[in-house]
Amino acid sequence: MTETALAAVVLAALAGLLAGRAWAATRRSAELRERPGFRASPHYTEALHCLATGQLEGAIRELVKVLREHPESAEVQQVLAHLFREVGQAERAIEMHRALLARADITRAERAHVLASLGTDYRKAGLLDRAAAAYGEALDVDPKNVHALVGQQKLAEEQRQWREAYEVQTRLARLRKSDDGLVLGFLQAQMGAEAVRAGQRDAAEASFRTAVSLDRRVFPAHLALAAMWSEDDPRRAASILEGAIAAAPERAYLAFGALEAAYRAAGEPSRFVALCERLVREDARDWRARLALARHLRGEGGAREALGLLLRALESNPHVLLVHLEVWRTLRALGTLGPEEQRFVATVEESALYVDPHICTVCRYRADDMLWRCPHCHEWNSFVEERVGPAAGAR
Ligand SMILES: [Zn+2]
Repeated sequence: MTETALAAVVLAALAGLLAGRAWAATRRSAELRERPGFRASPHYTEALHCLATGQLEGAIRELVKVLREHPESAEVQQVLAHLFREVGQAERAIEMHRALLARADITRAERAHVLASLGTDYRKAGLLDRAAAAYGEALDVDPKNVHALVGQQKLAEEQRQWREAYEVQTRLARLRKSDDGLVLGFLQAQMGAEAVRAGQRDAAEASFRTAVSLDRRVFPAHLALAAMWSEDDPRRAASILEGAIAAAPERAYLAFGALEAAYRAAGEPSRFVALCERLVREDARDWRARLALARHLRGEGGAREALGLLLRALESNPHVLLVHLEVWRTLRALGTLGPEEQRFVATVEESALYVDPHICTVCRYRADDMLWRCPHCHEWNSFVEERVGPAAGAR
């Protein structure tokens, strides 16, 4: 487990513990009569120590001992069930949450909380129908249960039910008074993409427009809108893409292909050169603008100029394999390669080595391409290009 993932698990476990504490607070009146003695147990102290140092198995071992001494403690049961789920033992978590639900002495708020937790157990165990039912029951008991709403939202996303995910996320944003524009925007963009596939152009356009109005950084919505106009009105497509680059300059390279085509279709190919030159001026380390410009120039018969650009890109980014590959292609275009070198270039062009690695800034999940939603931690817009320093191989 990476350090970040471990920290996330520990935080989740502590959050579970705090939820247990919050629960305990709601039980105040009961506690006044009968204060739980489990906090006095040395195993409880040891469990806290294990949690703080990220030893989840150790925490489970100690809490099982606490529970043996104090079988009536719903708080310990709740935390333990949470930990079982975190270490992948969803079945034991389900068992414990069910046992909690069977208790006659829990309040409505507690019942909603346990039902929501049970829903997440089922979700993690892949039992999606049961998860949906448990979240639904939790919301029947307490319509404002955030835990159940978050679970429902994730469940909808996992099943690619974008509209439902959007509706739940809207409720959550209202309830938590949080600004969820970015996530809502990405969900709208997914709804738009679905409408495109269904041939509903107007609905698709409306979704993409809503997406960018929710958050200008929803890059795929700009790309999709531009694609809708690329044939009929390339000037309009180009202006949409320029807007996208202005809103998220670090994503500019994702628009290069479409923008180059749009400028060309509009009869103004030189505007692509001007754009790349501007981006290079703004960031001397921007190898992507140099690479795009070099490709453009090579296509226009300017391979000599392209080579100069690429060599400058290599000076500041010697580790970027895509630039190396483009150097070979440019040398081929210049006619400087013999048949053997040409065979070499043809071979490396097919090589899996020349991928464009991206990494999730939340969980460090790596992918060979840009992804809008992390398949591991399910965050939106968390991928960036992986920058490998020239000295990385030495470490
Ligand atoms: Zn991730």
